[in-house]
Amino acid sequence: MTKRIVPGTSIELGTIFGIGRNYVEHARELGNAVPEEPLVFLKPAASVLPFGHSFELPKRSARVDYEVELVLLVSAPAKNLSPAQALGVISHVAVGIDFTARDFQEQAKTKGLPWTLAKGLPGFAVLGSFAPAPRTDAAYAALNLSLHVGGELRQQGSVAQMIHSPARLVSYLSEVFTLSPGDLIYTGTPKGVGPVKAGDRLKAQLEGYPTLEFDVRAPA
Ligand code: ZN
Repeated sequence: MTKRIVPGTSIELGTIFGIGRNYVEHARELGNAVPEEPLVFLKPAASVLPFGHSFELPKRSARVDYEVELVLLVSAPAKNLSPAQALGVISHVAVGIDFTARDFQEQAKTKGLPWTLAKGLPGFAVLGSFAPAPRTDAAYAALNLSLHVGGELRQQGSVAQMIHSPARLVSYLSEVFTLSPGDLIYTGTPKGVGPVKAGDRLKAQLEGYPTLEFDVRAPA
């Protein structure tokens, strides 16, 4: 059996968690209320874009949006951690893109259906190179995120603007689901989401961490 690996590491990939509506201005731009508890969804392992590859648009969606995000890598088993304990199980972080088929998501929201199709197509989980994680809430809050498409700034935000901080998210997930080494957490996107098209070049940055750059191509 071939094992799936977290791109750029030798760590076996676990569960990929995503968090929706974790920045107030992004929730508002899509007309959504701000959730009191973290809004959690999952992305399948097959949605991870292999390291260094371009992103191929899916045939079946007419609108795929970029969402630049801070991604956390879990390095130890975690159950019922308090927010004060939670950051201890995050060894590395990276910038990532949580691609979203917005047309599928709108249909799912209208019908009250899960987001699996909207969030889980091949290549929809993109990761930059992981580097050692901040150790404190304050160090996380100081992290800035940005996304350029074709040299134009489209998204910009700070982890300080999150509704649920990284420590709170890890604590919550450890309590509800438990966490295991190799799990990834996409922590939500700031405002400014929008569609990609074939030929776009995306440049995602988490200040102080390796930059993620890749191209978007048409369906094969
Ligand atoms: Zn997202």
